[in-house]
Amino acid sequence: MAEEELVQEKSSDDEEWDETEAAECPAVAAECADSRYDSDMIDLKDICKYYQIGDERVRALDHATMHIYPHEFVSIIGPSGSGKSTLMNIIGCLDVSDAGRYLLDGIPIEDYSENDLAKVRNEKIGFVFQSFNLISKLSAEENVELPLIYQGVKKHERDERVKQALERVNLSHRAKHMPTELSGGQQQRVAIARALVTNPSLILADEPTGNLDSHTSQEIMQIFHGLHKQGNTIVLITHDNNVAKEAQRSIHILDGKLSEVKL
Ligand code: ADP
Ligand code: MG
Repeated sequence: MAEEELVQEKSSDDEEWDETEAAECPAVAAECADSRYDSDMIDLKDICKYYQIGDERVRALDHATMHIYPHEFVSIIGPSGSGKSTLMNIIGCLDVSDAGRYLLDGIPIEDYSENDLAKVRNEKIGFVFQSFNLISKLSAEENVELPLIYQGVKKHERDERVKQALERVNLSHRAKHMPTELSGGQQQRVAIARALVTNPSLILADEPTGNLDSHTSQEIMQIFHGLHKQGNTIVLITHDNNVAKEAQRSIHILDGKLSEVKL
């Protein structure tokens, strides 16, 4: 799925959620069960993903096994082409593996219907990309508001939550600005506000500082640290050692193979 499509993705039923509906989605039901918090949020076992290009079969992920627990801040570090984005797409339920097992909140991903997966992406995961992916015709606050519109959140509550999300990334004073009127770092802060406005339990960031200078990257990392302190689970993908070592724990990826590292 293209990143823009994801940003604009609409849950197939975009009515406001009620508790009954929430309980029907395994991911949301799992989140309601306190005992789940003690177990892995993400549990990947021997995940493989292949791409066929002509005669050549590329192993983008080669028996990838990893665990991520609630409230962790984990970085995934590897060079270009090592399989980072492929891994993020699978963790974020944007793509499925060719082999292996993925448990999300203790439930095999194959047990989720397409509808459930759309809800998981909308409600449970906040995505941040290298290229920000803001909608250029919408102001900062309208970009942040969009996921809430898709969720059917009422206008009054939307306004309050957008305000809070922009405050969390120190951008309240730029709420009415269009993306082109913002610096790269500010655009990424809007994108982070958009990712967290739905209170996702997991923030997945794919090279979020890749297009930013080192000073601005530091500012963005401070925001991730702040979110982590507030209890968010963060998986941050990077090719930059300095960025990776700011996480509590780093997982290295090379040729689609994962290994835990000390940086
Ligand atoms: P990274 O994000 O670390 O740069 P990717 O996950 O994008 O790495 O890619 C891993 C490998 O899989 C690379 O060799 C890449 O060329 C290949 N690959 C990724 N996506 C596709 C695709 N849609 N079709 C074919 N090959 C792909
Ligand atoms: Mg990538």
